[in-house]
Amino acid sequence: MVIITAVALSSLAVAYVAWPLFRSVPMRSSVNFSAKQTDELLFQKEMAIEMIRDLDFDLHTGKFSPQEHADLVAAQQRRISHIDGRLAGLAGISAKGKNKSACEQRKLCSRCGSLADSNARYCPQCGQALPKTQ
Ligand SMILES: [Zn+2]
Repeated sequence: MVIITAVALSSLAVAYVAWPLFRSVPMRSSVNFSAKQTDELLFQKEMAIEMIRDLDFDLHTGKFSPQEHADLVAAQQRRISHIDGRLAGLAGISAKGKNKSACEQRKLCSRCGSLADSNARYCPQCGQALPKTQ
């Protein structure tokens, strides 16, 4: 019984080690890779936006002074614009900037740094009122 178990285990181990050799090697295409990176960046951006919401809440509860709050929000906004820059770079890999003129017409939220449609009145991410289209 012990021998049978040992044989079964060792053949499992061999199968485990050898399995990747049977799979086709070029599995990780660059498209999958950038899609995964985009997901990760979007997640980080969500977190930063969530952080700004928390900071707003903390300002109301008096945990931070307005100056501290402004500094912390600015730090998160820098993080978001950095993430947006990287997202734009990743998007450029697949769609060589073909929507560039459309992007330029969009409004940048002064609070969270996300892009809204040029006719949007409020930021879709954080609800900040956006300036009217000039
Ligand atoms: Zn916003």
